[in-house]
Order: sequence, then C-alpha cells, then structure tokens
Amino acid sequence: MRTHRCNELRAEHVGGEATLCGWVDSYRDHSGVLFVDLRDRYGKTQVVFAPESGDETLRQAKSLRAEWVIAVTGKVAPRPEGTVNPKLETGEIELRARHLEVLNRSRPVPFQPTGNDLPVEDLRPKHRYLDLRRPAMQRAMELRHRMIKIMRDYLDELDFIDVETPMLGRSTPEGARDYLVPSRIQRGTFYALPQSPQLYKQILMIAGYDRYVQIARCFRDEDLRADRQPEFTQLDLEMAFVTAEDVIGVIDGLVARLAREILGLEVATPLPRMTYDEAMERFGHDAPDLRFGMELTDLTDLAREAEFRVFRAAAESGGRVRGINAKEAAGRYSRKGIDELTTYVQEDFGAKGLAWFKVEEGGKLASPIAKNFSEDLLEKIAGRMEAVPGDLLLFVADKYEVTSKALYGLRKRLGAELKLYDPGQMHFSWVVEFPMFAYDEEEGGWAAMHHPFTAPRPQDRELLADDPAACRAQAYDLVINGSEAGGGTIRIHDQGLQQQVFRLLGIDEETARDRFGFLLDGLQYGAPPHGGIALGIDRVVMLFGRLESIREAIAFPKTQRATDLMTGAPGAVDPRQLKELGVQVVR
Ligand code: ASP
Repeated sequence: MRTHRCNELRAEHVGGEATLCGWVDSYRDHSGVLFVDLRDRYGKTQVVFAPESGDETLRQAKSLRAEWVIAVTGKVAPRPEGTVNPKLETGEIELRARHLEVLNRSRPVPFQPTGNDLPVEDLRPKHRYLDLRRPAMQRAMELRHRMIKIMRDYLDELDFIDVETPMLGRSTPEGARDYLVPSRIQRGTFYALPQSPQLYKQILMIAGYDRYVQIARCFRDEDLRADRQPEFTQLDLEMAFVTAEDVIGVIDGLVARLAREILGLEVATPLPRMTYDEAMERFGHDAPDLRFGMELTDLTDLAREAEFRVFRAAAESGGRVRGINAKEAAGRYSRKGIDELTTYVQEDFGAKGLAWFKVEEGGKLASPIAKNFSEDLLEKIAGRMEAVPGDLLLFVADKYEVTSKALYGLRKRLGAELKLYDPGQMHFSWVVEFPMFAYDEEEGGWAAMHHPFTAPRPQDRELLADDPAACRAQAYDLVINGSEAGGGTIRIHDQGLQQQVFRLLGIDEETARDRFGFLLDGLQYGAPPHGGIALGIDRVVMLFGRLESIREAIAFPKTQRATDLMTGAPGAVDPRQLKELGVQVVR
C-alpha cells in the first residue's frame, strides 16, 4: 500500500511521487493549508494539503483527527526557505498531497502517543496499543529484538542449538511458588508452568546435546517487586564438558559483543570478578554496584576498645561494626539530613541506629558521640577510614547481616544522591563461589542458595557432611550496575552426590524420587559433567536501554498486582469449564 516509510524521504527524492501510510500525529490548519505530521514506526513526514491538492482531497483532509490511519499519495517537494526542520530526519522535504485515503478512523485518544508527558499510569497498560505506539516503546521493542538476535547469532556461531522445552510440566525447583494448570484428562492432577527449563536442559546434556540455548519463558508466582514479573524471559543455556570458567567465558564474549554492537562500547574481557565472600565484606551485597567506590570498612577490632557502649556491645556479642566514608559529604548532610539517613537504615533494614562523624579542618572527628571515644581511638578510626576534612563517616554496629544490609542500602542511596557515577555508565562483573546453602530460619534447615542441582567446589565436598555453611558452590552471577543480570552453576552429575545434597536440603528419598526421579535415573545413564547459566532478558534489555523499569522492556507486562489491565487477565471462567476440570473455587 505504500512506496516509502515515514522516515525515508529525503532531499534526493524531490520531484518524485510517493505514497505513505501511517497515523495522523498532528495537524495544523494555516489559513486553508493543512499540515499533517504522518507517523509510523520509523519516523514522521510532513504532509501538506493545499488548494492544488484539489477541493475534494482538501475537504477530506480537514476532517482528519489525531491517530486516524491514512494513505497519502503526492509529490515530494523541498520545504520552503526557512521552514526546514533540522530536528526531523525528513525535515528538508514535505509530501504535497494529491490523493488521500482514510484507512481507518480513531476515537479521540485518552492520551497522545507522542505527547510530551507520560500518560497517566493506569491508562498505559489499559490502552497498551496506544502506549506501544509511543516512539520510546517502539525503540525499546526494537532494542529487545536486536539484543535477542545478537544473542542467537553469537551462540549459533559457537554451535549452540535452540531446543524448546515444555510449558506444561512438573514443578521445577527454583524456590518460588508454581503456577498450576489443572489436567482435564486426569482429574485432580496438575501441570506446573516452568519456573525455568532447568531440569530439561540437564536432561538434554545427558542426551548429548552439549550446547543448548533457549529464549525461555519462565513463570514464578511471587509477590511482585518493582523489577519482577510473574512471567519473564531468560536467555537459558547449558553446556557439557565445561568448568565454570568456560561458561563465564561464553558470557564474557556475549557481553562484549552486546556492548559493542548496542552501545558502541569496548568492554575488556575477562570481566572482573570477585568471590561472594569478598562482595559481602566490601559491599554488603552479592550484586554490588561497582560504578563507584565507598566500600565498607570494618572497625570491629577498634570497637572492642571503645568506651562507646553501642560499639563495644556489638563487637563483644559477635556482631560487627562497619562503616562507609562519604567523601566530601559532610557539608551535604545537615543534622536533619543525617536523621533521615538514620530513619532509613532503621526502618528499611532494621538497624538500631546510625553513628556518624564529620571530619573537621585539621582532621578532628566531630559528632555528638565523639566524647565517648578517646582521642587515640578517634585517630585510629580516622586512619582506618582514610578520612580527610570534609568527609562524612557513617557506622552501623549490629549483627553481621544487619550491618551488610544497612550499609549496602546506605551506599546505594548515597551513591545516587551524591552523583558518584554517571547514570549512563555501564559496569559488568562476576560474583563467584556463592555458598551452597543458606540457613532458613523460618523453616529451620538448609535451603539451596541457587538450586539443588548445583555442584560444590571439588575441594569443599567434604564440607557437605562437616560444615554445610562453609561449603562453597561452583556458582557465578553476572552483575550489571549493581543488578543481578543472571546466574548459573556447574551441576551435580553424580547421582550419589545429588542424593546427598537432597538429604541435606531435607528432601527425603521418596520425595526426591517422586519429584526428580527422572533426573536421578538420567544421572545413572552416562551423564556428562555439565553446567550453564540463565540471563534475565527483560532486565538486561532494561539496563542496556536505560529504561525505567522492566515493564518498558516487555510488550505486554503485568501490573504490580500481576494483572493485565488490557485483557483483564486473570479473569473468572465459565462454571462449565471448572466442572470439566473437576475444580471448585473456595471463596
Ligand atoms: N535455572 C537457573 C535460574 O533460573 C539458571 C541456571 O542455573 O542455569 O536461575
């Protein structure tokens, strides 16, 4: 229906004929001459309806309204002197209309797709077809497409093959709640939508498909946080005959390629990496933002000598005293400002309080609590914190976990408030050697830190029996700008070891058989050593596109309440359907 797209005509086309199709972006009537900006996915072109267009066409053009869909044929002409628009790629020309066809009308729109302000929050998901018409959303969808294509091409070159795995399966253990699908044919039984293709991809390794990849949809019924979706997409891959280094190497190459082709950025590989223990010690978190410094410093040994009761008590009861140095920030935070930071660590992270010192001219530490410290100790603290005049020192004295969480939060907040990094900057790194297990206080017992199929480091195998807490896994997470972009592990390929880990996790033999019998069986039929990783595509696109939320990276996302305001999902179903399924609703 069209000869060109709306971002195609240039000065070189002047004198030629063209037919464009698109949406009426805006229209202006200048004393009998009508200017219409016609828009499609590619851009805009100015169309002019003037008396020489003919009476009928001009009359018709005057009825056009925003978001009507039209086809216009006319002559490409240079814009008159002084009306060239350098901001528009088609800004040197205009299409002088001869013929207009209205392909479809639009009701008055609840928001203008190219309006200056973002539409009201609820209107966007409800009228997603209009929201997706916004150029920013169209750029995001193109970016997502391009990134997925690069992933596929890159992995194809490395001999990965794409294998689809079922949506209707059995519960997979990624630690979240399952979405269940009732079986009609076998009443009372349920499929679970995959939380990930984890077990299928391991089976593929056993089957000899030594390099597998899938752009895989995963489903996890969790309470949604801002950057979570009930269904999301992973770049899921698995490899046989590999060590952690090999998997990391493949992803290093992918990251470098994405950075180069999408951002025009040269990223040096291998990407930097640190162990989990180091990340927790230096940043209080397993996905640290390395775009800026302000690392955590430990003062627990000094705190033991302190007259200041809060510090000494934490140190003596097995807790920690740790702090950060907000460089040159003493002037930025008034008493009131520091009070706000204190409330923040108390309310959000359960810290008892926040101790602070401002470093004065001459290096003296000033604070309401300074009188509780000897001169000597203050000097030692200043030395340890590498304090210079103008710095603001902030400390948390508490259980180890609380100091980690509170100072991680504080560092993150101050990093943003003090503009310690350029928001456009990108930082990629690995955190490796995670603990195998975390103790689950609520349930009482060990839980898998990644998932139950993760292999311990060979040198830690003995620790499984002796000291599970100390046992480290062959696990690795990719971190981008302080956000976990993906994670994976080398898997257990020995049936005996797998059963030992199940036992440790409190999965008894019968349950293991029932849920993972097929894996335990497969492991006994020639399972090669294998490992893999999954990257969260929605999040990676968000980070590369510098988008506000993952909802901007997904065409049809769900709201915080896991609903789709456009289709009305989840919705009630016909009682007949329930009857057929043998399902009853309890209200
Ligand atoms: N299945 C894991 C996940 O979804 C990734 C992996 O271990 O490959 O987090």
